[in-house]
Amino acid sequence: MPLKYKRILLKLSGEALMGGKGYGIDAATVDFLAKEIRDVASMGVQISIVIGGGNIFRGVQGSLEGMERASADYMGMLATVINALALQNALEKYDLPTRVQSAIEMQELAEPYIRRKAMRHLEKGRIVIFAAGTGNPYFTTDTAAALRAMEIGADVILKGTKVDGVYSSDPVKDPKARKFSELTYMEVLKKGLGVMDSTAVTLCMDNNLPIVVFNLRGKGNIRRAVEGKKVGTLVRGNDGAGIKKKNS
Ligand code: UDP
Repeated sequence: MPLKYKRILLKLSGEALMGGKGYGIDAATVDFLAKEIRDVASMGVQISIVIGGGNIFRGVQGSLEGMERASADYMGMLATVINALALQNALEKYDLPTRVQSAIEMQELAEPYIRRKAMRHLEKGRIVIFAAGTGNPYFTTDTAAALRAMEIGADVILKGTKVDGVYSSDPVKDPKARKFSELTYMEVLKKGLGVMDSTAVTLCMDNNLPIVVFNLRGKGNIRRAVEGKKVGTLVRGNDGAGIKKKNS
């Protein structure tokens, strides 16, 4: 099966590592993800990952509880580093060479984010995990995913979630919720659909970078997405191509 996407950016929320635990990191869940990623790596796909921190700390939550927002956001970014190290560990158990690059320097733990170096790692078949989001408060790891995907020339963002794609309303609460197989960026923004935050979606729209929103818990879903098979919801531009304009 030929690859539709050769270089991917996989966006994992912090909650993706949590499993059924309600907080923190669940080893079995991280192991499952590592195996899914190994499967795709064995196909020769160049894999970069942006990981969130919501399973540990969210800046907004901290600021609601009286913390200064910027400090709370830095705590959130540190949470993503914890998750990145957990995922790196799980991937290395399967002998997958993995590098963590952090947007906030902490050289004992991770490389600093250096775009060219990240791309070199990918070319050499190493998995690159981008930690600490964009390195700036008031942003999210979804926006970090869009930004890094653009910087490294990824062909697609694969956004793993808890549900099978993008729905007209919350499928957990609304039995009439309808799943979209394809959407344009504009539809996502106008309808306020919870794909990624609007900054992230706008960045993807301006650069015509397709987003595939899919259920991370489904075995083989990442593989299906890189093969271009129908999985989840594809968000793309009006032209229907859903293919990034190279060097535009
Ligand atoms: N964060 C930030 N700047 C960034 C990325 C993340 O300040 O560029 C902080 C923010 O407080 C956020 C937290 O890190 O709440 C965790 O990231 P996010 O909520 O995006 O994680 P996810 O929802 O994907 O688990």
